[in-house]
Amino acid sequence: EAALDDAFQTLLSWADAVRDIGVRANADTPKDAQTAKNFMAEGIGLCRTEHMFFDGDRIGVMREMIFAGTADDRRAVLDRLLPMQRDDFEALFSIMEGRPVCIRLFDMPLHEFLPYDKSGQRDLAEQLDLPLSTVVERMQGLSEYNPMLGMRGVRQGIAIPEIYEMQARAIFEATARAWGRGMPVQPEIMIPLISAVREVELIKLRLDKIAAEVRGATGVDFKFKLGVMVETPRAALRAGDIAQFTDFLSFGTNDLTQMTYGLSRDDAGRFMSAYVKQGVYPEDPFHSLDLDGVGELLAIGAMRGRQTRSDVVLSICGEHGGTRPAIAFCRAQGFDYVSCSPFRVPAARLSAAQLTLLDARMASSAGSGRA
Ligand code: PEP
Ligand code: MG
Repeated sequence: EAALDDAFQTLLSWADAVRDIGVRANADTPKDAQTAKNFMAEGIGLCRTEHMFFDGDRIGVMREMIFAGTADDRRAVLDRLLPMQRDDFEALFSIMEGRPVCIRLFDMPLHEFLPYDKSGQRDLAEQLDLPLSTVVERMQGLSEYNPMLGMRGVRQGIAIPEIYEMQARAIFEATARAWGRGMPVQPEIMIPLISAVREVELIKLRLDKIAAEVRGATGVDFKFKLGVMVETPRAALRAGDIAQFTDFLSFGTNDLTQMTYGLSRDDAGRFMSAYVKQGVYPEDPFHSLDLDGVGELLAIGAMRGRQTRSDVVLSICGEHGGTRPAIAFCRAQGFDYVSCSPFRVPAARLSAAQLTLLDARMASSAGSGRA
């Protein structure tokens, strides 16, 4: 396991005593969570749950779910994933030992679960006992011209509620179990790709209902926190309305950069070096937070969110989250924490402390200048 030597641990503990912004890690697996904890992340800031649907038999279950005829059929299939998801979340809670765990609901186009090669499609037709032509036809119906701008994230949560329902139940049942083991967890649930306040309202109603059912069934009176990813420009602009329904806002700068520039995060590499070389962009905005555009949306979202709810928790969880300029920006905007890949956590802790000290030094020299 990743472990840091004693001297470095001491240095990091000094950094922790100084810094005034939190550092969490993005982690989806028990292994990532363990690494995050070893590196002393204060919690998980982003658990991308869609990554949990590919292991072992799970992808087969997902395929069956995609081909199920009705909502009840889909629920019946998803019931087989429920115990696995419950174990996934229970494992994360138990590794994190009471530190916050922020679970993002499923965010992936369904056609990514389907095989595109002929032999895979033939196997699937056999598994589902369907004619090959039906499988091919159904896949055509699911394919999208722009999957990254298509039926992802909350759009799926609204249009096909069963996946989120299963995940919510799994999160709450895992929470009740953790309580049963003496660990009073308060899970954080995060909705991806929001662009309208009504999306949040609808999902919140469904989550509240399932939480009440699980409380009733288990007798455990847990609470949970609800938040959204702010990763479309519209979510940043509507953050004031959205904050009526949320405890936290987490800025997803990967998608937010993509959508602010209208530039595919998967294809930008083709011309990025020409753009940077000719000074069109000072740097690749996917690697270095664009303060003029994306940063402005972060500032607007943070301000509007706080206007509605002064204690709304603000964070960043895109790839930028562990970089020093992004940490500086988030501190300046009064964000509560950054979340980054587990291996970036130590550097982020140091950067956060250094930035805090630099600020204090500037404040004291400005103070002595006035005297
Ligand atoms: C983001 O968009 O910044 C984000 C953290 O989500 P993902 O990278 O999973 O789309
Ligand atoms: Mg995203």
